[in-house]
Amino acid sequence: MSFSGHPGLAEFGETIFAEMSALAVATNSINLGQGFPDTDGPQEVLDAAAAALAGGVNQYPPLPGEAVLREAVAEHQQRFWGLEFDPASEVLVTAGATEALAASLMAFIRPGDEVVMFEPYYDSYAAGIALAGGVRKVVTLRPPASDADGDAWQFDLDELRGAVTDKTRAILLNTPHNPTGKVFTRTELMQIAELALDRDLLVISDEVYEHLTFDGNQHIPIATLPGMADRTVTISSGGKSFSFTGWKVGWACARPDLIGAIRSVKQFLTFVNAAPFQPAIATGLRLGDDFFEGFAAELQAKRDRLNAVLESAGFDVFSPQGTYFTTVDIRSVGGDDCRDFCLALPERVGVVAIPSSVFYTNKDEGRHLVRFAFCKQDHVLDAAVERLQQLA
Ligand code: PMP
Ligand code: GLN
Repeated sequence: MSFSGHPGLAEFGETIFAEMSALAVATNSINLGQGFPDTDGPQEVLDAAAAALAGGVNQYPPLPGEAVLREAVAEHQQRFWGLEFDPASEVLVTAGATEALAASLMAFIRPGDEVVMFEPYYDSYAAGIALAGGVRKVVTLRPPASDADGDAWQFDLDELRGAVTDKTRAILLNTPHNPTGKVFTRTELMQIAELALDRDLLVISDEVYEHLTFDGNQHIPIATLPGMADRTVTISSGGKSFSFTGWKVGWACARPDLIGAIRSVKQFLTFVNAAPFQPAIATGLRLGDDFFEGFAAELQAKRDRLNAVLESAGFDVFSPQGTYFTTVDIRSVGGDDCRDFCLALPERVGVVAIPSSVFYTNKDEGRHLVRFAFCKQDHVLDAAVERLQQLA
């Protein structure tokens, strides 16, 4: 007998993050590829996890998640974004945002249903749609002119409208956006919302970088727009906001019927996860505004540090409005194919980055783009900067 993997996953292979982090270890390079911080998050959150571990919070949590976390998620949605969710019926704790995304897609996408999303996109979206038997329809975000400081990546509204067909079931949105760092504006979100309302679509909104915005750009959850609360699944996680990506504590918030459908899938994926980390993330969600503001400001300074050297090394830099990532065009330094460029970079200068073509269905759109993560300690960034300067 021969065994082959899920046919829908054949096109994906190993995720780029596993591949590039392994390359960083093998070549002893500085890893500016996979997006994870190299320091722990807030001490209060660590202490809460330690107390939970020592205090016997080590068995299966309830299926929807520990009550203290569901309450903290609901409170946080209210406090920052004015969104009202009932912790008992409208919040579901998941194994990271990844599981919330996968379970949502499996819950709502039937074989042949189309899901509209922007490219570049976080890699689990395309795989999640494929696992559900759905079909992805992508609309390309185009970078700003390289000299247009502060401008964001843009989509063409007619292209977006044209991507919706009679088979479209959902729009999968991500703001702040990985990998471009785009923070969708209210006008753009209203256009997306209008389309969803007009064509009766579900919106699955990945907001894991909700707190990581720069230069006064404000995150806006699409669920806050008129008419959208009833048709939006809002997803986030403690990984990015609190620098505990390895804990994999995420959540989905939506109306009870939507959450019920997601929960019924989730129960057979993982059932539950991360018992002692759930109350710890609840502690994080209740930290003061100074924490959230301070962390974004710190990241903004790291972005500027990395951007400056990338620019001086000759790259066209597309500075992000949020997230962990900055994107460069490698053609300005004589590069052509981002994968070749990223495979050679460890050898050339001892730095690992991500070839952005993996985030595209239309590979040519991303062929010349490379993503660098700046969520690293200053001394690590400085060492990377020194190495990258050799490219100049
Ligand atoms: N969505 C986006 C846009 C991401 O960048 C990531 C990476 N962390 C995830 C979801 C996955 O989040 P988690 O680690 O909580 O599963
Ligand atoms: N979200 C992180 C990134 O985009 C990595 C997550 C992962 O390794 N799957 O780099």
